[in-house]
Amino acid sequence: MPTAAFSNDPGAASLTSLAGVGPALRESLAKLGLLTLQDLWFHLPLRYEDKTRISSIRDLRVGDTAQVEGRIEAIEKGFRFRPQLRIAISDSTGADDSQSTLLLRFFHFNNAQVNQLAIGTRLRCYGEVRRGQHSLEMVHPQYQRLAEDAASEVEERLTPIYPTTEGLGQKRLGGLIQRALALLPQDELLELVPPALREANAAISLRDALLYMHRPPPDADLTQLSLGTHPAQRRLAFEELLAQHLSLRQLRNRLRAHAAPVLRGDGKLRRRFLAALAFAPTKAQARVAAEVARDLREAAPMLRLVQGDVGSGKTVVAALAALAAVEAGRQAALMAPTELLAEQHFINFHKWISPLGIEVVWLAGKLKGKARTAALASLRGPAQIAIGTHALMQEGVEFDRLGLVIIDEQHRFGVDQRLALRDKGRAGSEIPHQLVLTATPIPRTLAMTAYADLDVSIIDELPPGRTPVATVVLNGTRRSEVVERIRAACAEGRQAYWVCTVIEESEVLEAQAAEVAHAELAAALPGMRIGLVHGRMKPAEKQAAMDAFKRGEISLLVATTVIEVGVDVPNASLMVIENAERLGLAQLHQLRGRVGRGTAKSSCVLLYQAPLSATARARLDVLRETNDGFRIAEKDLELRGPGEVLGTRQTGEAAFRVADLARDAHLLPAVQRAGEVLMREHPDLVARLIARWIGHAARFAGA
Ligand code: ADP
Ligand code: MG
Repeated sequence: MPTAAFSNDPGAASLTSLAGVGPALRESLAKLGLLTLQDLWFHLPLRYEDKTRISSIRDLRVGDTAQVEGRIEAIEKGFRFRPQLRIAISDSTGADDSQSTLLLRFFHFNNAQVNQLAIGTRLRCYGEVRRGQHSLEMVHPQYQRLAEDAASEVEERLTPIYPTTEGLGQKRLGGLIQRALALLPQDELLELVPPALREANAAISLRDALLYMHRPPPDADLTQLSLGTHPAQRRLAFEELLAQHLSLRQLRNRLRAHAAPVLRGDGKLRRRFLAALAFAPTKAQARVAAEVARDLREAAPMLRLVQGDVGSGKTVVAALAALAAVEAGRQAALMAPTELLAEQHFINFHKWISPLGIEVVWLAGKLKGKARTAALASLRGPAQIAIGTHALMQEGVEFDRLGLVIIDEQHRFGVDQRLALRDKGRAGSEIPHQLVLTATPIPRTLAMTAYADLDVSIIDELPPGRTPVATVVLNGTRRSEVVERIRAACAEGRQAYWVCTVIEESEVLEAQAAEVAHAELAAALPGMRIGLVHGRMKPAEKQAAMDAFKRGEISLLVATTVIEVGVDVPNASLMVIENAERLGLAQLHQLRGRVGRGTAKSSCVLLYQAPLSATARARLDVLRETNDGFRIAEKDLELRGPGEVLGTRQTGEAAFRVADLARDAHLLPAVQRAGEVLMREHPDLVARLIARWIGHAARFAGA
């Protein structure tokens, strides 16, 4: 990249030019991909907190996120299942009214913290209001002590909440961004897109748009901001979509410049595999497998996405592709996002493919010592198929003749990881073919935009004989009935999942919610073996809990959405999802796909927290009515608008800061036109736009 182009670019200044940014802070910032002033300007808030007013406890409603102020009425430190700190506060609005008491619950706290609190202490809290047993409550609210005579001052404007990383608090990051904004130049220096190309979006300047996002005025419309429809957001979304579009075009061009091995096998292995298989492929599996086989026979690299609902049989398609590579004398590698999932693939492949005399090798982070050395040696020689986790794409792993890379559940991997594995098979300008599999159904029109650099095949049929999961939608007040149902099911030797959800993007809060549910269920179901998995546990602990569940030693598994992807425990036939209204339909469907895998009739209970809006009710009803993932995705689109269908996690490769592919779809024609002109006439600006919005991902993609 020619640095000359940046020499008069004020945004290119390194962050060390900001006072107080030392090595430690620089490292945290680098983890977020923030290296330059410009990176800070374009590090946009995820959402906003409204601390501009104090609500009275009496007015709180379940599901609100609110700021309240009150005095401590009671403090209790309990150790029922795990340490718990309970604090009741009340405000002056209704001293004799039980409704005006709010319970604060903490599961992680220390003595120093407790010692600062006493009956009568004034507290200000900010958090989400939940329904507790006797009153409303907040679990782990933010709080601060107020001096006895302190005036009640509130924030003047909405507080932006930024994506951040461990060890870098919101206050610190927010303060830094504010200081960087003081150095924001005038528009002539900031603007990269020539005016003629952004005519439709000239309503607000880039500078004003950035300032609005980082410092929304006190009267800013929070609803509009959360919907992403403010002109400032549109303005930024246009540029972000343009940068994304340009980067996909570059990727495509680079891919086209490569060659790939022609994988034209004689079909013998594939025929023997199919003959030995206990079932015949569905028509859809056969069609998609043929599409893949056709791509593999080309000397140009395949980059194909196979979409298929949960249980549609994508593994068979992957196996057929791998065998095509082996027939042609090449190696195939299958990478899955979790050890659990990779292991299931290994077991299947071992069963299906080893009898054909094919060497299947397993590689995961857990594999150590001699076993690892042997696996690595095999990959450099005799191995024909490799199956594993991220470990496959790490340094020190070398393949002898990798011709095909298969990525399962690709929304869990980044572009860089996919490419790191691909590059293990690089020889000169030749790269392996790539096949990516996903169970996250996205309506076709959206898929074409979201995955503009991929070809798409769809498995639109399930194998015969599946019994659909019976789904019920229940008010959360009927929780105890559901717990009773779990007791009964587990007494019959069945197994169940209990899934906890949170609104926040925070893994910490999600883990806490699961811990709370685990403690409560343990209390309600004495004697039952109950496990826990969440994202904050060490991989080994997670694995141990899952293994115990798989072996049937645990009857009930309390989990966060970490179990969403590909977990297969056929004996589990009951799933309860708490606060189901918080999740997107696609994610609920994916979760539900964890049951209904065995012979037992399976059911799924969606618990919601009332009140439920008509739309929310209609959404949950969709799941009750159908088990068809594509149908669900379409309905979701209809009911909630496209933003929900393409949540950031689902787009995977295209995690946007402001843009929303579907919501901003009307910008796409202009984006395309601008992209065309920029590629042709301003290649220097293309590079700068991509660096601005995509930054490090683009650097990887260029590898
Ligand atoms: P997914 O698309 O979710 O990855 P899998 O490949 O894991 O689905 O397949 C789900 C289950 O269905 C597996 O147990 C698999 O063996 C079985 N299966 C796949 N294809 C067929 C088929 N054509 N007929 C019957 N069962 C099948
Ligand atoms: Mg699968």
